[in-house]
Amino acid sequence: MSPCRCCGSFNLLEVLSLGVSPLANSYLTPEELQNPEPFYPLDLKLCADCYMAQLEVCVSPNEIFTEYAYFSSWSTSWLEHARQFAEKTIAQFALNQNTRVIEIASNDGYLLQYFKERGIPVLGIEPATNVAAAAIEKGIPTVTAFWNLELADTLVQQDKKADFIVANNVLAHVPDLHGFVEALSRVMKPEGIATLEFPHLYQMINQCQFDTIYHEHYSYFSLFVVCRVFAAHGLKVFDVEELSTHGGSLRIYVALDRNSRYEISPRVNRVLQKERDAGMMTSAYYRDFAKKASKVKRDLLTFLIDAKEKGKRCVGYGAAAKGNTLLNYCGIRTDFIEYVVDRSIAKQGKFTPGTRIPIFSPERIAEGKPDYVLILPWNLREEIEEQMGHIRKWGGRFLTAIPKLTVF
Ligand SMILES: [Zn+2]
Repeated sequence: MSPCRCCGSFNLLEVLSLGVSPLANSYLTPEELQNPEPFYPLDLKLCADCYMAQLEVCVSPNEIFTEYAYFSSWSTSWLEHARQFAEKTIAQFALNQNTRVIEIASNDGYLLQYFKERGIPVLGIEPATNVAAAAIEKGIPTVTAFWNLELADTLVQQDKKADFIVANNVLAHVPDLHGFVEALSRVMKPEGIATLEFPHLYQMINQCQFDTIYHEHYSYFSLFVVCRVFAAHGLKVFDVEELSTHGGSLRIYVALDRNSRYEISPRVNRVLQKERDAGMMTSAYYRDFAKKASKVKRDLLTFLIDAKEKGKRCVGYGAAAKGNTLLNYCGIRTDFIEYVVDRSIAKQGKFTPGTRIPIFSPERIAEGKPDYVLILPWNLREEIEEQMGHIRKWGGRFLTAIPKLTVF
């Protein structure tokens, strides 16, 4: 057993076991269907000493992130979120051609493009070779690497310290959490700031979002755990925003402790208080999570069995990683879901990991006219409902399973 990623304690309690599952992003080609697939345990643990929720690392980041099927630019709502974020921060922190923006896990340059457009020097750090290549092709300078102390020190030597660092939806993917944060503190200019987004554990538990648990997500954060980790590296979380992205995320703003320009905002204390009031610093808060997940599974299976008995046809929308956790945990294969559609060309023609459901382009739905479309990435529900509204013409309906079964 490995120690707690935040405090080093070995006092870890199991909160929820999702059984065994393949890596959520390892889509299979038709040829690979002949081969066995590796399955790994998927068990959420809670540190009884610091209350950080986490998975043990059973798959190294090298195996997961060096070739990656997720290109951020494929989601229009996500691009819009990125554009607004860039405009807001450029104004708020007076970023200009004399400042440097570094983004960690910069994906295909979906965010940095909006800074570059305004003449601000940018540098992306992205470990997935294929995704980094897409960014470079777009003209976004990108280092193909994992973020760590060695890379931070190299950038410092090259005089590339940052005024503004962005690290969105990457903190959960980092096995060496303290190394990652220490590297951030080293590359930050004395007056610099960093901003990070991550799904809020508070929402994951309250909204029963157990499908956001997969092997790539090693850690699940509350604000109090994040504050503790950053404090250990001379950094302070001076502001926080609650966002609706990914089912409920936090965006934190971080500066060096000794940077007196930024006082701790009352918003930080408000979120900390909310977490305390909810009981997140007690193990009781996490106790019913497994029962709630099991209820979601039973309700979804009951619905699908019933629909099948009635001769109805069900398909899925969005071959998202979280969908793969749900499908594997529930044991749903082509017996219940005929196929899944996805806008990502890289996924079309492949099969979902473990459950081996074929993936097609969204046009397939208009040809086949299924009765039910199960939306797997429920965080994009509104966008998908709008895009696929034509299913109502033949009486088709949408379905989401989380936080509870909803037909609409
Ligand atoms: Zn701990």
